[in-house]
Amino acid sequence: MRWDSLSRDGAENTNVTTPALFGTDVVSRTFDTPEFRGITFHEVRARSIVNRVPGASRMPFEWTINPYRGCSHACVYCFARKTHSYLDLDTGLDFDSQIIVKVNAPDLLRRELAAPRWKGEHIAMGTNVDCYQRAEGRYRLMPGILTALRDRANPFSILTKGSLILRDLELLEQAAQVTDVSTAVSVGFTDRELWRTVEPGTPSPQKRLDVCRTLNEHGIPSTVLMAPVLPYLSDSPEQLRATVRAIAEAGATSVTPLVLHLRPGAREWYMAWLSVHHPRLIPRYKALYADGSYAPTWYQRRITRQVHDLATEYGIGPAHRPGSMRRVEPEPVPEPEAEATQLTLL
Ligand code: SF4
Repeated sequence: MRWDSLSRDGAENTNVTTPALFGTDVVSRTFDTPEFRGITFHEVRARSIVNRVPGASRMPFEWTINPYRGCSHACVYCFARKTHSYLDLDTGLDFDSQIIVKVNAPDLLRRELAAPRWKGEHIAMGTNVDCYQRAEGRYRLMPGILTALRDRANPFSILTKGSLILRDLELLEQAAQVTDVSTAVSVGFTDRELWRTVEPGTPSPQKRLDVCRTLNEHGIPSTVLMAPVLPYLSDSPEQLRATVRAIAEAGATSVTPLVLHLRPGAREWYMAWLSVHHPRLIPRYKALYADGSYAPTWYQRRITRQVHDLATEYGIGPAHRPGSMRRVEPEPVPEPEAEATQLTLL
């Protein structure tokens, strides 16, 4: 692996090297604390921080900020796993435990927002990996990022599973007074047993719904992305009902269901997990995803219809504001650095 020369052991162990990543030194640290045990942070100085989504993408926004790469929330199905392979890291455990931290993100953002060519367009965060994952508790990049966006009255949205977003509630409120701010919390199901095995590093679904409630109570519009709905694990009528009811009780302004998709990178990891935890489902998954990364249209339509009917029953409005996260379709967004790095590695 490209960073084998870096030390990973010991309490607050630090090493410095100069691999051809981000065109700068990389400082790698491990912290021997329960919160971060087993995780290595690679601190880099990024070349740019506001990234344009490739034109061919199906994303409903054009600009993103991703201060981290890799995600210790460790969701087995995570669609962003593939992006770790651009860094010559593996898409399984490395994705969960080798976290790239763009330590200069706030400073870079201030510069980029002040550039004459920047037109103040909407910026989406949390579109690749979670910007409120555990690393953010230590590195505190988001307060600087939110402050820069607030000071420029630049509209933005955040998608997260992290309850840490509430640490920045005051900044979000200040930003919402001067620009369009929206948030979305990702909760695909409320089954706690399933949560513990398939999303092992995340706050519980209930805690995430509490985040949604708190944000809305403070005037920060918060929707729920009901993603992913896991075929044969969280898609029974009773499970869908329980999830939509909990979402409604949390006061979400809208709910958008999204069925699991399994692109390369996530597919292998998810199927390996399935073979351990639910081996009897392997044949059914192979049949459902026989044509590629997506479940068949009939299945997706069925889930969407069921969730929409339940949402109507529980009185969740069909809010669809410009720039909101309501139509987000998770898709790994290759960043300029990632592509450049890939070329370097080749
Ligand atoms: S929280 Fe989001 S980015 Fe992080 S592992 Fe889970 S799905 Fe991936």
